Amino acid sequence: MQQYISQLNEAQQAPVLQKDGPMIIIAGAGSGKTRVLTIRIAYLMHQGVDAFNILALTFTNKAAREMKKRISDIVGSSEAKNLWMGTFHSVFARMLRSEADKLGYPSNFTIYDSQDSVRLIGSIIKEMQLDKDVYKPKQVFGRISSYKNSLITVKAYFNNPDLQEQDAMSKKPRLGEIYQNYVERCFKAGAMDFDDLLLKTNELLNRFPDVLAKYQDRFRYILVDEYQDTNHSQYLIVRALSDKFQNICVVGDDAQSIYAFRGANINNILNFQKDYEGVQTYRLEQNYRSSKNIVEAANSIIDKNKTKLDKIVWTANADGPKIKVHRSLTDGEEGRFVASEIFEKKMQLQMMNGQFAILYRTNAQSRAMEDALRKRDIPYRIYGGLSFYQRKEIKDVLCYLRLIINPKDEEALIRVINYPARGIGDTTVEKLTIAANHYKRSIFEVMEHIDKIDLKLNSGTKSRLQDFVTMIKSFQVIDQNHDAFYLAEHVTKKTGLIQELKKDGTPEGIARLENIEELLNGIKDFIEGQKEIDGARGALSEFLEDVALATDLDKDTGDDDRVALMTIHLAKGLEFPYVFVVGMEEDLFPSAMSMSTRSELEEERRLFYVALTRAEHQAYLTYAQSRYRWGKLTDSEPSRFIEEIDGEYLEYLTPAEGNYRYKPMIDMDIFGDVDKSKLRLAKPTNGTPPKKYGEEEPSSSIRRLKPVSSNASSGAPVSDSKLNVGNIVMHERFGKGQVLNIEGAGADKKAEIKFEVGGIKKLLLRFAKLDIL
Ligand code: ATP
Ligand code: MG
Repeated sequence: MQQYISQLNEAQQAPVLQKDGPMIIIAGAGSGKTRVLTIRIAYLMHQGVDAFNILALTFTNKAAREMKKRISDIVGSSEAKNLWMGTFHSVFARMLRSEADKLGYPSNFTIYDSQDSVRLIGSIIKEMQLDKDVYKPKQVFGRISSYKNSLITVKAYFNNPDLQEQDAMSKKPRLGEIYQNYVERCFKAGAMDFDDLLLKTNELLNRFPDVLAKYQDRFRYILVDEYQDTNHSQYLIVRALSDKFQNICVVGDDAQSIYAFRGANINNILNFQKDYEGVQTYRLEQNYRSSKNIVEAANSIIDKNKTKLDKIVWTANADGPKIKVHRSLTDGEEGRFVASEIFEKKMQLQMMNGQFAILYRTNAQSRAMEDALRKRDIPYRIYGGLSFYQRKEIKDVLCYLRLIINPKDEEALIRVINYPARGIGDTTVEKLTIAANHYKRSIFEVMEHIDKIDLKLNSGTKSRLQDFVTMIKSFQVIDQNHDAFYLAEHVTKKTGLIQELKKDGTPEGIARLENIEELLNGIKDFIEGQKEIDGARGALSEFLEDVALATDLDKDTGDDDRVALMTIHLAKGLEFPYVFVVGMEEDLFPSAMSMSTRSELEEERRLFYVALTRAEHQAYLTYAQSRYRWGKLTDSEPSRFIEEIDGEYLEYLTPAEGNYRYKPMIDMDIFGDVDKSKLRLAKPTNGTPPKKYGEEEPSSSIRRLKPVSSNASSGAPVSDSKLNVGNIVMHERFGKGQVLNIEGAGADKKAEIKFEVGGIKKLLLRFAKLDIL
């Protein structure tokens, strides 16, 4: 153990060595906060604290897994596996399952994802005959979510005239009723949404002192990473649980608070000293992550913010290269620059793909990057956007599975009751919904008793409903006796899902089948993983829990080597040797939607600070002078954030000034002079609404979200020795060609190939995907 502690500097050791009492570590990016938290947990265990008594809350489940792995290396895995570690949502979902009955929920409650929530709200708005252009389901959901995260229950809402007035002022006087209906419908369906997981935990701890006491006693040591981004609801949970022993250690950086738009409250970090008695405050000042140029550039940015805690961040690392700034004419060209830079770095320095990250402000920006990476045959993975589990075909299977576990789950039922088509029409479903609301029962229960209720259904429809009930019940029997894989495979066959997709012979249909196969493989993997865990049998309910709470980063098993593409928000806490921050343009970053107040602009600046501080060795800032946004070519100017960096840390790869007003030909020829202010308000022209951070991708983009597959070519990849001058080869993209020359050796071995279309190209054999014909 001592060996691990001695790897920390003195400032880092202090909070590790203080065993008890409240403490806060406030420190800049890359100063070892997460590392301190990890070693602190190992050291607590080393001093005899039972792993069962330690609770650690992290930003992603992946972060928790990595932490657990490091701790296992130090103290041994048999002990480490008993730690309670994970995101707020996954840890408290687990707690709620074992206490659900106290709140009137079944322990197998469903967790609704945001798609389910928005659909349900949409249907409530329709049932209430409200105008969905005024009551936009997504907006209403956002409003309800922020109420829940501020612990404003339906009752509290109706007791608060100010809130009601606020909603009335924004032309939504019936928001409270929607909120009430939504809560009732979720409850009736035995479902909690993401925000409920926190809200209900608070309710549980408030209403049941014995439950509170039990968990206070269990979690004697609590640790929270990324504390600056906790919301009010999370704050109260931590407060309540740590109240008895006050062994609470939080770490965070006010300069990295980037979730205010989702209710994160920076005051949680600023007020920590007031909340507990005798708080020890620790500061870490040395950055170990980044080269000096990056650290100092980041300092110079955050300096521009008025609201901040004064902090020093310095590094003993080498200066490193300057931050490279690149201007291009279009977003397409920006993508090509990034891809060719990655390609060259890989060639020159033998870098792995996984050492590069491309970070952007909005998910929509990934498209140009993906196109360029694909053209260069560089494997990549996109995080965020449409998650695998939200793809239509995957969600269809999951909804059948959810229904088996919790037949009351109405969102699941509505989704699959007539898919694949089995003659149960919308009118029937509407009748069932009305009856279910009337009898305060779930739709499934109504269907079970369809004989006794007069819904004016013909006998054919009735028997089809009964068949559906019988099918789900037969699946439940299988669930009792088999593991999740067996059941899931059975379900995909018996429901006709597979046959339905097989009928559709299009490439999209085939891709969907492959996705289902991938899901089944995932379930198999999951069962294997579960074998290590005490008491787990790889049951379906355990798998669904895992899926419901998986964040996008969690799926990254790290077993294949790809460039990472993600929004800056998702990149928090991560680090990469090479980081490209793309789309450094006014109205994009800072976002047009976050520039009207100082506090919004300061949050954007913190976001930029987060982006830059992900880089270990080299950072790039790129911008385009025009880009397609919302289906239109728009003009753009470089982000003010570039100018805010002290010039001595920058290297302009393209002339910095003089050309900002230059308009590319295409702009002048086709679109004329574009008025930016109008564009910002312009309605989308291609039916795709402008996307905000965190919004889902439209399903039409499914194909391009599938990561490039490394075995896409049909034959076996060419091994170096096999390829000879004169060979006729087939390249995945360039097609047929003849090898003219081979030069170099080992990793640098290249072939000059004359392609039938496209002419002569020199390819690095390590990367080229060639088949010999
Ligand atoms: P962020 O604010 O971005 O979350 P952080 O403060 O949590 O950053 P860590 O991720 O813990 O920082 O550490 C940054 C990097 O520095 C990691 O690669 C870590 O292993 C390394 N590091 C931290 N402390 C030391 C140390 N004392 N000696 C060597 N390397 C260190
Ligand atoms: Mg960290």
